[in-house]
Amino acid sequence: MKPEKITPQKSAVIIGGGSSGIGIAASIRKRVKDIDITIVEPNDCHYYQPAWTLVGGGLFDITKTRHSMHAVLPSGTAWIQDSVVRVEPSQKYIETRQGQKINYDFLIVACGLILRWDKIEGLEETLGLNGVTSNYRFDLAEYTWQLVREMKGGQAIFSQPPLPIKCAGAPQKALYLSCDYWRRQGILNNINVNFCLAGAAVFGIPQFVPPLTEYLEKYRAQVNFNHHLIRVDGEKRQATFAVETNEEGKRELTLPFDMLHVVPPQSAPAFISQSGLADGAGWCDVDKSTLQHKHWPDIFAVGDCCSTPNAKTLAAARKQVVVVAENVAALIQGAPLTAHYDGYGSCPLTVEKGKVVLAEFGYDGKLLPTFPLLDATQPSRLAWWLKAWFLPRFYWAGMLRGVEWFAGSKRP
Ligand code: FAD
Repeated sequence: MKPEKITPQKSAVIIGGGSSGIGIAASIRKRVKDIDITIVEPNDCHYYQPAWTLVGGGLFDITKTRHSMHAVLPSGTAWIQDSVVRVEPSQKYIETRQGQKINYDFLIVACGLILRWDKIEGLEETLGLNGVTSNYRFDLAEYTWQLVREMKGGQAIFSQPPLPIKCAGAPQKALYLSCDYWRRQGILNNINVNFCLAGAAVFGIPQFVPPLTEYLEKYRAQVNFNHHLIRVDGEKRQATFAVETNEEGKRELTLPFDMLHVVPPQSAPAFISQSGLADGAGWCDVDKSTLQHKHWPDIFAVGDCCSTPNAKTLAAARKQVVVVAENVAALIQGAPLTAHYDGYGSCPLTVEKGKVVLAEFGYDGKLLPTFPLLDATQPSRLAWWLKAWFLPRFYWAGMLRGVEWFAGSKRP
């Protein structure tokens, strides 16, 4: 009798159990039943980061932004609580901090990015003290709201580092919600508001600049372009910026503050370049359409760690997850990769309590509105409802469980 041919079960290893990592595990499982999926993730908690902006504005309960990893793991998925320190793509294994070597047939890099608090001198020791805060950390978003509530007058500074960063609108969202609260309290006139950005435009997509500028004017915020935060002296309450202008060249400028909201520079995790998987800037070097690695066909990337030139947002990850899941399923069947990502990302700019300018766009700045009949450049109550009510609920109950509403991939 001819021996039965046994096909060994395929294995997928996912680096990172954040929004993309859990999302991709659920979406692959939906398509491929007989595959071993292992997530390597050091943290025992999982976070819904987009709501931290609302927490900083006193409009969302921080405890609803965190669940245990066990609660979000798709069924039938193994979790190794460890960090990846190296990938050996030629031999198809990863190595963890605790020294485990794990083989894979398919590898999905979903490790997000690193917040470089260390790049700003004096910052780490004063975060959470002396009026220095950031909505970019779970443990600090509530401190933002405390500072906003306690502020009665003086100087408030909101900083934004060079791009790329995750949710490039989040630095100014903190400003809008703070100013809106001060306006409603009737104290905005007592507060000097400064928006200090390293870049030269308030938003990268020109159609959204006029409505945002209108709000910055309404809140009497001084916008300072080409201001790059380099040093914070918490005790003296002074922030120092490297400033570059055509007229004066490079100089340092120190501003006093009563409240300082900092967004730090951001970079890709170092193991990506140390494993030879990176582009010139350190991001995981994938094809911008298929999200397959440019040199290693069994490796894909999804989320903030990708080299793709999209806005690094959860909204982008939600779409990328579907593309990667379809392409991994195709690869397993030996079929061509037909799922394509169009660069979709979205930034719901919370310009005031109850109103959002919903910026949705893809590669090359092409507008990709979910509701084409509405004028996306106008502040909208529907978009606020989406941001503050619908999306947080959909995230936990939908995206992390493989529900792919409005996330269908494109065919070329
Ligand atoms: P993450 O969710 O950050 O997950 C990465 C995971 O990888 C982490 O759990 C980490 O522990 C793990 N990891 C890292 N290194 C390793 C390693 N070496 N080995 C194993 N695991 C590793 N997006 C929107 O769409 N809309 C918004 O309104 C919005 N607002 C935001 C507001 C704020 C304040 C912030 C901070 C973000 C916001 N975002 C928003 C962005 C969104 O949260 C991110 O784009 C999204 O979380 C990216 O998912 P990710 O899986 O790539 O990264």
